[in-house]
Amino acid sequence: MAANPENVSTVEAWAELLACPACHEAVRAEGERVVCAACGRAYPVVDGIPVLIVERAELTPVIEGQHDQRGEA
Ligand SMILES: [Zn+2]
Repeated sequence: MAANPENVSTVEAWAELLACPACHEAVRAEGERVVCAACGRAYPVVDGIPVLIVERAELTPVIEGQHDQRGEA
């Protein structure tokens, strides 16, 4: 996939290209964060670039139902 810099200049565009490192599901932009709807993790966006690091993720209350807690501190 050829990434046009203009297409990845917004967090929304980034989110379409990225996957959650914890569960490998798609993520979506939500304000200043990138949120995984599958596991509920919210990743920070630093200087316009999503930081998809599990340790940096914030767990959102969205998480109910099936989820596994692997790798949680
Ligand atoms: Zn996830």
